[in-house]
Amino acid sequence: MGISIEEKEEFRGFSLRLRTAGETQRLFPRTLPYYKMFFLRRKVPMQGRFIFLGTGASLGVPVIGCSCEVCRSEMSYNRRLRSSGLVRIADKQVLIDAGPDFRFQALKHHIHRLDAALLTHSHYDHIGGIDELRIYDFIQKRPLSIFLSNDSLQEITARYPYLFSNKGSHLSWQVLQGDEGVVDLEGIQIGYFSYEQKGMKVTGFRIGKFAYVTDIQSYTESVFESLSGVETLVLSALRHEVSPLHLSIDQAVSFAHHIGAKHTYFTHVSHDVDYGTTSSSLPSDIRLSYDGLEIVFDY
Ligand SMILES: [Zn+2]
Ligand SMILES: [Zn+2]
Repeated sequence: MGISIEEKEEFRGFSLRLRTAGETQRLFPRTLPYYKMFFLRRKVPMQGRFIFLGTGASLGVPVIGCSCEVCRSEMSYNRRLRSSGLVRIADKQVLIDAGPDFRFQALKHHIHRLDAALLTHSHYDHIGGIDELRIYDFIQKRPLSIFLSNDSLQEITARYPYLFSNKGSHLSWQVLQGDEGVVDLEGIQIGYFSYEQKGMKVTGFRIGKFAYVTDIQSYTESVFESLSGVETLVLSALRHEVSPLHLSIDQAVSFAHHIGAKHTYFTHVSHDVDYGTTSSSLPSDIRLSYDGLEIVFDY
């Protein structure tokens, strides 16, 4: 499988500024009317970059003890850490989900600083590495802001009570109000919206014309409004067979075409999916992502 020109494209109009330790960060989450953020004309077009830190389903690929063809595959595109991604925009680095492979992913991709983390929901494959995020308080001398739904906060509080004790407060919990809205991360607007995975509330995120939608199983029409105008969509697609918890490949193709993004990338993929054969069967606007893939998006 070749790498598209788009992935090689130089990241124009973007400069990465390293934040010095101790520099203060202004964060003021506030809910603004959703439509206001994405229909305003911006004077200077800006681009962001998204790195797929992991593209695997909850068990990762290969699955421990499995001897299926994909798990035995030598092809690097068939090796998938648990799903997670890093957004780089302006001088910001924002993590989406902190699964159990986070430490390895951070070392591999040299994630030495973070401005915020966004959590989609509290299943283990998305928050199993949350403890590792404390390091950014040690490096940056301020607690890392974590944006999450109130449902996720309640779950995490029950499972990791020590993260909330006075001694262990290395993380700053920023609850996203309601089912949708926008928070402002020092000038970068991050939209959020909600859907469900078998009764669990899951949060999707939108940054300009980019959106990240994982673990979606049931949703209302409002999701399509939230994703209106998105040009680069990352969407979970578990396997070929229909699943009670996730969109299958075919269902995800239909969902993606309903959104009509220019480019859709499937993530959260299980060992049921061989990169080579599945990639060649997808429509031209949709492709399988793989660990380490970097894409550019318009803000
Ligand atoms: Zn998951
Ligand atoms: Zn397998």
